[in-house]
Amino acid sequence: MPGKKLLDSLSGKSDEHEFYDNTPKGYVKGKTKYIIVTGSVISGVGKGTFSSCLGNLLKLLHGLRVEPVKFDGYLNYDAGTLNPYRHGEVFVLDDGTECDLDLGTYERMLNATLSHDNYITAGKIFKTIIDKERAGKYLGRDVQFIPHVTGEIKGFLRSLAAKSKADVVLVEVGGTVGDIENSYFLEAMRELAYEEGKNNVCFINVVYILEPGSLGEQKSKAAQLGIKGLMSLGIQPDMIVCRSERPVSEKIKEKISIYSNVPVSRVINPYDFGNIHKIPIFLKETGVDREIIRLLELKNGSSAGFLEWENMTKKIDSAGETINIAITGKYTGVHDSYLSIIKALEHTVPYFNAKVDIKWIDTTSIKNKTDAEKVLDGADGVIVPGGFGTRGTEGKMECIKYTRENNIPFLGLCFGFQMALMEFARNVCGLRMASSTEIEPDTKEPVIDILPEQKRLENLGGTMRLGGKDVEIKPGTVASRLYGKTVVRERFRHRFECNPKYIDVLEKNGIVFSGKAPKHPIMQILELPDKSFFLATQFHPEFTSRPLSPNPLFRGFVEACLKGKKT
Ligand code: GLN
Repeated sequence: MPGKKLLDSLSGKSDEHEFYDNTPKGYVKGKTKYIIVTGSVISGVGKGTFSSCLGNLLKLLHGLRVEPVKFDGYLNYDAGTLNPYRHGEVFVLDDGTECDLDLGTYERMLNATLSHDNYITAGKIFKTIIDKERAGKYLGRDVQFIPHVTGEIKGFLRSLAAKSKADVVLVEVGGTVGDIENSYFLEAMRELAYEEGKNNVCFINVVYILEPGSLGEQKSKAAQLGIKGLMSLGIQPDMIVCRSERPVSEKIKEKISIYSNVPVSRVINPYDFGNIHKIPIFLKETGVDREIIRLLELKNGSSAGFLEWENMTKKIDSAGETINIAITGKYTGVHDSYLSIIKALEHTVPYFNAKVDIKWIDTTSIKNKTDAEKVLDGADGVIVPGGFGTRGTEGKMECIKYTRENNIPFLGLCFGFQMALMEFARNVCGLRMASSTEIEPDTKEPVIDILPEQKRLENLGGTMRLGGKDVEIKPGTVASRLYGKTVVRERFRHRFECNPKYIDVLEKNGIVFSGKAPKHPIMQILELPDKSFFLATQFHPEFTSRPLSPNPLFRGFVEACLKGKKT
């Protein structure tokens, strides 16, 4: 039965107007302020980095409650089906949302736990709209980009504001100004600024200042055009962030100011630092936070967190030693595909006064012990990270075997956990045919098998065991020493697991399962107690590592690598 409202509208009874108000109940205008960050000139200009550093400063120095939001222009519903070698790492939030790696940057820089309320894709917006349309929620109206799509976007932000009671909602509009993909997001932000009123919304445009090698000087024309593009959409930026390789000259800042109606004092230039952790300190020195607090008439609180942050960055600078970590990962775009792992390793630097040097290992050509020995020569530790499919798996197992036999610290993450169990089953338990049904569906020894709950699911998107779950830690183990707790919460993203049928034989031969799911025989951490460090997890500890609180397992791993190097 269609609702009364819909029937009224179909019979022409409802009062017709052009507005579409999607503001949630309880929303108070002006209570939450909005900072909108856009990007011009090039994609990958560093909006996410800038936004997260600004959020860090507002939260850790001024004690403001900041909720970041990333708008992703992709038509995918979430990042779950994206190939990490094309798009970068798929980050997993505690509530199981599979999202863009920028969300990981926000969690780390803001020391926050985010949820689906902090991430919105074009796919999600359109799905909401089609679902609402099918349910007759638009009351007979023709559904349009304006006001409906923009209305959903504004509604999304306002719901977050109302729910979180944030002082600031910090919005990063993905993509570049001028793209079709983000045009309606920008339009929604223009409307938001008008509706929320002056001093409640501010715009920051991130541009790139080119310095062509052939000219040997900085050029601001592309940046000017980018700003012009934004202004032609009816958005007046309040601040311009010039990204550049080298510091930009005053002259360039003045030019930008002339073309953008933004005072030179609000044209800032965080040039390439190399170390994201120092950017909040630079922003503080430049006075960006004070300008924003003034523009948005925010209350200026204080928090001790920033001092701790500054001390941490000083320690990173003074790191003396270097440890070499080999990671079995594909070569192309590796940095972004394994961003959280790189970050989790970096987080340990202030604790051990040692830098981490990463060597990427392509395992497809590793066929035997000699190959493994060759590629792992000089490695103080080896990480086998998450992965899917068959490619390079035999090589990964050769690498694990080598670390196990030569007592090189080893950390396995998700797929790495499964590979370690297969290697152990084959070479220690004598189950020569041991395999995973992901790799060999008809294997005689399915040591790794699909989770019973996954057998029923057919779609690929969002059907994995996802998000934060409790893990029970066994007392007296390495995991227990490192975590110092009996239950921890870690994040998962997998379909396969250790087949319970094989737990007995694996344990009898020396594997210690030091973490398992409460009340279920799902094994989640394995270790070999007689090794300097041989530990693997079915979950992804890299997703919960933070600059001021590195994941304990990464700390343990790096500590073991350093120890091994000294002996
Ligand atoms: N392919 C494995 C599974 O689905 C591991 C997944 C991963 O490494 N994230 O269980």
